Amino acid sequence: MAEKQLFQCSVCGLHYENKEIAKKCEAYCKEHNGCSLDITKLSVERNKQSSKSDSNELSH
Ligand SMILES: [Zn+2]
Repeated sequence: MAEKQLFQCSVCGLHYENKEIAKKCEAYCKEHNGCSLDITKLSVERNKQSSKSDSNELSH
């Protein structure tokens, strides 16, 4: 079996296992010139790293 195919958002460059989500991300990124946290949290990159800190602490 080959590796799981990943779909990349051409705007932000994050990868998704789900093509539909990758397309959503791309559409959102293009329209809003930024990522939706609801979408990026589903990305492979986000799931790989188990960050302890919540997004609450990022605001500054
Ligand atoms: Zn994106």
